[in-house]
Order: sequence, then structure tokens, then C-alpha cells
Amino acid sequence: MFCYFLQQVLHFFKSLKKHYLLNKLIAHMSKIREKLREVFGYNQFRGMQEPIIESILSGKNTFVIMPTGAGKSLCYQLPAIMSEGTAIIISPLIALMKNQVDQLNVLGVNASFLNSTLSKAEMTQVKKDVLSGQTKLLYVAPESLVKESNLAFLQKAKLSFIAIDEAHCISEWGHDFRPEYRRIRGIVDSIGKLPIIALTATATPKVQQDIQKNLQMEDAQIFKASFNRHNLYYEVRPKVAVKKQLIRYIKQNKGKSGIVYCLSRKKVEEIAELLRVNDIKALPYHAGLDAQVRMKNQDAFLNEEIDVIVATIAFGMGIDKPDVRFVIHYDTPKSLEGYYQETGRAGRDGLEADCIMFYSPSDIYKLEKFNKDKPVTERDNARHLLQEMMAYANSGVCRRRQLLHYFGEILEKDCGYCDNCKHPTEKFEAKKFVRLVIQAALDTEQRFTAQHLADVIRGVNSSYVVSYNHNQLPYFGKGKDYENDFWLSVIRQTMLANFLEKDIDSYGILKVTQKGKDYLENTYPITFYKDHQYANVTEEDEEREEIGHAQSTKAYDTVLYEMLKGLCKKVAKEKNLPPYVIFQETSLQEMATTYPTTKEELAQINGVGMGKVNKFGEPFIKLIAKYVEDNEIETASEVVVKSMVNKSKMKIYIIQQIDRKVDLEEIAESKNVHISEIIDEIEHICYSGTKLNLDYYINQILEPERQEEIYEYFMNAESDDIQAALEALEDYTEEEIRLMRIKFLSEVAN
Ligand code: ADP
Ligand code: ZN
Repeated sequence: MFCYFLQQVLHFFKSLKKHYLLNKLIAHMSKIREKLREVFGYNQFRGMQEPIIESILSGKNTFVIMPTGAGKSLCYQLPAIMSEGTAIIISPLIALMKNQVDQLNVLGVNASFLNSTLSKAEMTQVKKDVLSGQTKLLYVAPESLVKESNLAFLQKAKLSFIAIDEAHCISEWGHDFRPEYRRIRGIVDSIGKLPIIALTATATPKVQQDIQKNLQMEDAQIFKASFNRHNLYYEVRPKVAVKKQLIRYIKQNKGKSGIVYCLSRKKVEEIAELLRVNDIKALPYHAGLDAQVRMKNQDAFLNEEIDVIVATIAFGMGIDKPDVRFVIHYDTPKSLEGYYQETGRAGRDGLEADCIMFYSPSDIYKLEKFNKDKPVTERDNARHLLQEMMAYANSGVCRRRQLLHYFGEILEKDCGYCDNCKHPTEKFEAKKFVRLVIQAALDTEQRFTAQHLADVIRGVNSSYVVSYNHNQLPYFGKGKDYENDFWLSVIRQTMLANFLEKDIDSYGILKVTQKGKDYLENTYPITFYKDHQYANVTEEDEEREEIGHAQSTKAYDTVLYEMLKGLCKKVAKEKNLPPYVIFQETSLQEMATTYPTTKEELAQINGVGMGKVNKFGEPFIKLIAKYVEDNEIETASEVVVKSMVNKSKMKIYIIQQIDRKVDLEEIAESKNVHISEIIDEIEHICYSGTKLNLDYYINQILEPERQEEIYEYFMNAESDDIQAALEALEDYTEEEIRLMRIKFLSEVAN
């Protein structure tokens, strides 16, 4: 009895302690959130930002691998603001440094940089501020870091942690190796024992391993995000009537910012000129231009004096203009890695953006010719990259699936948001082909390439095949009725389905996965896609086709939005800053929905912290107030306004999230409501005439045939009543029907 009592008491104290710790943790977390709101004006963290910040704040070495635009900067900026002392940010690009420091200063954060562009007096001032403990973030170029005088200074300063941005520069395997980066570890050791946060957008395991080894942070907490960029629309077009297509597309997207990549300087000049004579505000950018001209053109793009920059791939590193709405590859790029990196510069703000690539086999031949004089291994590697590029362009498989597969990520379902998903090529049942391929790989002991497997299946009697006695295999020649390209495409799709995988150690060799072995035991129907037949495309075909997809859903007041955008540009010009540093497009759209007319209301806008309100708010509030008065926009009483504001805030939040292709469950969770409430809101939005594209979500939950059935129903039904639909379509849930009704209304009625 007594024992029992004691146990209870103990239990009571334990739970008290647990509560205490929990409360402490909650208090800590809410403090981080408070800062996010107060300084950056954001209501929510994106992805893994919060646990990353926790990790570095608790003094652990932290390794962050996230794609471009995922919000890596915040992962060190916020903890730097919250920590005592100065955080050192090592960054390879001087232009980027200045950009970030400008943005932070605008937010009211004390940040500065140390690099070769500073005068002696400026340098002294920067150091003084750090030593006095005022500076929260100090950006340093690696070459400045290794200087003796700077080292002595850093040893004296009180530092919080070290952030290493673009950490792939450490690795020779990365695409941007910088020798000075290899010295960072030694320097950090000589400064003192500090936690390190390393960040990169390079996905390959080899580079990741190199970074950790070199920084001696094998113990680090690793945060790796998916490389899927939901808001980017991928499209490949045959390079036919390409100039007409280009001009038409850009004209249709007037006023939006975009990048057109060309392979040669000459082409850049030619296309920039072509756009200019067609009344498009465009300028060239390539390494052959005078440094000054280059800088001027880049600034004109950032400051939105021009809409389009035509560039070689020399342009883009370190440019973080968040509202690039399209990236066009005028020439076929050299590798999928480079391609993905370049398209990654689109849509960093999370809103929709188009990535369009023009493909032509003759571009590939040209590139192959360039490679002729290279050393053998380099040439082989380059050829291999080109083959991947060709296969990607020709394939009828979901582009996103292919791209992510290339980076080692398996996407289980098609994305619904690329050209191949929107306009599928012909499908076929591939069960028997897949079995044949897997069987062939197994029987040849998983030691051969795709081409060899295709040869065996097609019965090619080459000396190579014969030397392995593969012409004796039971199914040698079984697939002779189909061409080589067909089999290569089938093998690729078998890989994409994760039945086969590339061997990491020996290049090009295919191994059968467990899933592949299981498939032989337990076969089921599987659909594959035929490749594109670009050779048959004519000029007329191309001129008729729609290009691109991104069309922002406009639930906001477009007139006010344009006025706000104009004001933003004006203020930016006065302050000599890019417009997005003042307010981003997403914030302006929200203002044009909720009409904030006081400082407090303005501070409620996502992306607007008190720092920005005080610095720039006034003219915006004035403009909105006048607009509201001139147009007699109802703002009724305080209470009504509040709830109205909240309602429309919810609305715009949902629209923005759908733009970003966020799953409805996730939207519901972030707003702490049931998914049906989100669908209610979406229906409201849709019935008030705004088009919403939910394909990315619907494709995940409903097979195409099932979608068609519901769609058909609404096509022919007397009314769009849900009850009637539920009775007629027995096999479907209410949620599925409602979602399809939204799709139907958006496509047909709106
Ligand atoms: P990365 O360095 O990973 O390429 P950035 O740090 O430049 O990405 O961030 C991309 C964009 O996302 C920026 O415009 C930034 O303002 C925005 N952003 C970052 N975190 C958030 C957040 N929690 N909520 C809303 N926007 C965010
Ligand atoms: Zn797709």
C-alpha cells in the first residue's frame, strides 16, 4: 500500500518535470516563431526550417541540403539574430553578399560584409561594429577569411557560429569548386570551437560525403529536403519555328520577369536583339561583355527596368530575384544537372513559373562536336550527359519523375504539372516487356548496360554479344519486332518504375532491385508511354500550340496591385534597391486583397515585419487608404473588417498554397482545420469566378479513368448538386466528387 503511494508521488513529480521541460521547449519554440513574425514578417516556417534552427541554436553541427528557393538563408539568419555575438557567414559570391546584407538591413538587422570591395575606412568601421558586439551577421568571402589580419580580428571577436553557404564549393566533384573553401576547417579551428552550419543545393551523395569529410562534421545533424519544386512547370518543345514561339510566349507573359538561356555569346546577342526589335524589354548577359556593362544589365533586370535577360549560363549564380516567372532554354543544355540548376532560378517565391526547353537533335550533335578535342574520359562523361539529356527530351514520361529520378529521388505518382502529364503521348501495356527486361538483366548476371540488354533482346549477333554466349539465352531475339529506341525507352521506364537501378560504382551497369525481383513473382499490369515523335512536327503545328502554363490565379484586386507594384518600383529606385527587397509579389497580392490601412494591419501581411512597416509602410498605407476611399470599398465597422480580413486572408493563403502545389491535407493542417473546410473555401473561391488548378492533387487521389467518369457526369448533369451526384456516382466519396466539381467548374465555367 505504502509502496503504491510512493509510486504515485514519484509519478506525479515525474510528470511535473516532464511538463516543465515540455513547457520550456514550447516557450523556446514560440520565441523562435515570434522572431520569425517580428523580423521577417512570416507566419510559418517552410519545410524543415524550424528544426534546423533548433539544431544550430543548441550548438550542434548542422548540415542542410535543400533545393534552390527552399529558404536556406533564413536557417542561419534567424539563429544569428537570436544568438549573442556575431555569426560568420562564409559565402563565395560578392554580389550575393551585398544583396543579402541589403535585405537584412532593410529588415532592421545589423549585418555587414568583409570582402575586397571595401575601402580601408569601411573595413575599419565593419570591424569596430563587430568588436562592439552590434553586428549580428558578418558575411565573409573565403579569400578574405584566410588573410592573416582578418584572422587576428576574428579571434578577438565574440562569435556565435559559422555558416558555410554554397558548401559544395568544398568538393572537387561539385560544379563550382573553390580551393580556398578547403581551408575553412583549419581556420575555424584557429578561431575557436564554434558550431558549424553548412548549406548546399547540390544533391549528389558524392559531394555530400566530401563536404562532411572535409569539414570534419561527420557527426552533424543532417536535414535533407526533397528536390521537388512543385511550383515549376516543365515543358520540352521541338525546336521548330523557335523564334516565333519565343516571341509569342514572352508577349503573352508581358511584364513578367524571365531568363532566356543560350549556349553561345553570339546567340545571346542575336536573341537579345531579336527581342528588342519586337518591343520586348530585353538585354544580353555573357562573359564576353565588359564587366561594367554586365553589371549594368544585371541590375536592370533585378530592378525591373527590363523584363527579360538573355544570357549564357554565366548568368544566374547568386542571383536571388524571387519572382522570375519563366526560364527558357533556347538551346538544348549540356546536362540535366545544369538544366535543373538553371530552371531552379524560377519561382523562388513559391508562385507558379514556367521552365521551357527547346530541344533539337542538331543541338546535341553540335555539342558532341565541341567535345571532340577533350581528353577521353572527359569526352565519355560529356557524351553520357548528352545521352541522358536526349532521353529526357524524347521521353513521354512525367518530366518531374525523370528529373527527380536523375537525382536519386523516386516519385511514386506522375506530377500532373508538366507537359507530358498534361498532354500524354500514346500509352501501352508494358507487362510483358518489363518481364523480359528484368529477366534479361538477371540472366546476364546484372553486369551489363541498357544498350547491351537491348541488343540481347533484339537478337543482335554482335561479336560482343557472342563473346558472352548471350546469343544462347532462351529469349535472345524475342523482341526483334521492335526497334532499338523502343527497347531503350522501355528499359529507362523500367528504371523509373524502380525495377532496375544504376550501379553506383561502375557506370551504366544495371542491377535488378528487390522490387524488380518481386515483380517477376507477382506481375501486374503497368502502363508505359511511347516516346515523342518530334521529327514529324511541322511549323504550323508549333504555331498553333499553347506554350507554358503558369498563369497566376488572380483573386486579388488587380488595379490596386498594379498601383502597389508601381509604387514599389518607385520607392526601390529612390533607395537604390531592387523592388522585391521592398515588398515581394506575394505580399503585394495580399495587400491588394485585404486593403490594410494602418500600420498594424500592414504588419499582418505575410512577409511584412515591423521593420519594413516603419521603413517603407507609409506611402503604401496612404495609397491603399486613398484607393479604398476613391472606390468606396466597404470596410464597415472594425469588427466586421477584422473577420472579413481573416476570411480573405484565408482565401489568399489557400490560393497561394495551391499555386505552390501544396497538398490539401497539408494546407488544412497548417491552418488547423479539417480538409472539408479547405474544400469549402476552395468552392467559394471557385464560385466567385477564380480559376484554380487542383490537378496536382486530384491526380494523386484519383485514377484518370475515375476522374473522367465524374467529369462526364457533370458534363451531362442537369445541375451541379452534390447530393444528386452522390446518388448517381455510387462508387465515389463526397470529397472526390466535390474536388472534381471544382476542376470541372474551373475548366468549363470560369
Ligand atoms: P535558397 O537560399 O534556399 O535558395 P532563399 O533563402 O533565397 O532560398 O529563400 C527563397 C525565398 O523564400 C526568399 O524569397 C525568402 O524570402 C522566402 N522565404 C524563406 N523562408 C520563408 C518562410 N518561412 N515563409 C515565407 N517565405 C519564406
Ligand atoms: Zn508530370
